[in-house]
Amino acid sequence: MAEDRYKDIVIATESLTKHYGRIVAVDGLSMAVPRGQIFGLLGPNGSGKTTTMGMLLGLVKPTSGRFRLLDAGISHREALRRTGAIVETPCFYPGLSGRDNLAYFQGISGKSNQAELNELLERVGLGDRANDRFRTYSQGMKQRLGLAYVLLGDPEVLFLDEPTNGMDPDGMAEIRELIRSLGTGGRTVLLSSHLLHEVEQVCDSVAILSRGRLVVQGRIDDLVHSLAGDRLRVRTTDNEKAIGILSELDWVGEVTAEDGTILVTAPAERSPELTVALGRSDVYVAELSAEQMSLEQYYFKVTGSGEGGTA
Ligand code: ATP
Repeated sequence: MAEDRYKDIVIATESLTKHYGRIVAVDGLSMAVPRGQIFGLLGPNGSGKTTTMGMLLGLVKPTSGRFRLLDAGISHREALRRTGAIVETPCFYPGLSGRDNLAYFQGISGKSNQAELNELLERVGLGDRANDRFRTYSQGMKQRLGLAYVLLGDPEVLFLDEPTNGMDPDGMAEIRELIRSLGTGGRTVLLSSHLLHEVEQVCDSVAILSRGRLVVQGRIDDLVHSLAGDRLRVRTTDNEKAIGILSELDWVGEVTAEDGTILVTAPAERSPELTVALGRSDVYVAELSAEQMSLEQYYFKVTGSGEGGTA
């Protein structure tokens, strides 16, 4: 892969493929993860997210295709030294404290740095429970210790596979906030999730996978905007009359009634003209706002799946 083409790309895959016998877990995946972003791998169970991460981390041997992790020209081993990953929950010792567990993993990498341990435990909000045994931790605390573990050695790239799995909504919100903070200062985070809201709240960009194939990738704002176009939601003193008036305007697209409001396809910058056009016929605007498509609506449009809260 040419260096200049991938300068600001931390992870690049080209036609990456994994077959397990007759099962095609990942099918010709070409994807680029830009430096400094939180990048979501989004797809339903079995769509190939974990297998993709496994190949990038050297845990699963690709059937065909190529990938690059971090800089071109360095070995995969060197790239992994600068990478932190939780693909499966790390095996912490239940009888040891959170601090001793972290110290153990820090020791494996040949270092002993109390200052780093203290800072990480504080950072993940375990400062006051650091000396309690791991077995007494809640699910959220265990997950937070996992994040401290993954941050040991201050890696440039983080792989997080379904980081809020099995957590309650409060715990999820805490972890998501923490993950957002990990993606600052130029660090790149690749996060897999089947939860649309999670990806929408946490990630800058997304690659949507379906049955091992890439459906689409890009910045979430751009993707959503590309499909939504400009839509305005308007409530007026006479919606029925307003629909008739707006439908006559040549710069207005589709006009539909929805829940006591009107959805108008039109450029947001023409809202003043829209207000004037209605006012001329004695219809007055009570409310006007630009309509944003959610990632969920986008997802179901591009994948053609049914409704639901998860991918
Ligand atoms: P989940 O969210 O459920 O973990 P996923 O998107 O991460 O799903 P993968 O775990 O990568 O998907 O699985 C992709 C496909 O590959 C599935 O059909 C799965 O059954 C299959 N698969 C994964 N690992 C193996 C394996 N070791 N042996 C055989 N098949 C496997």
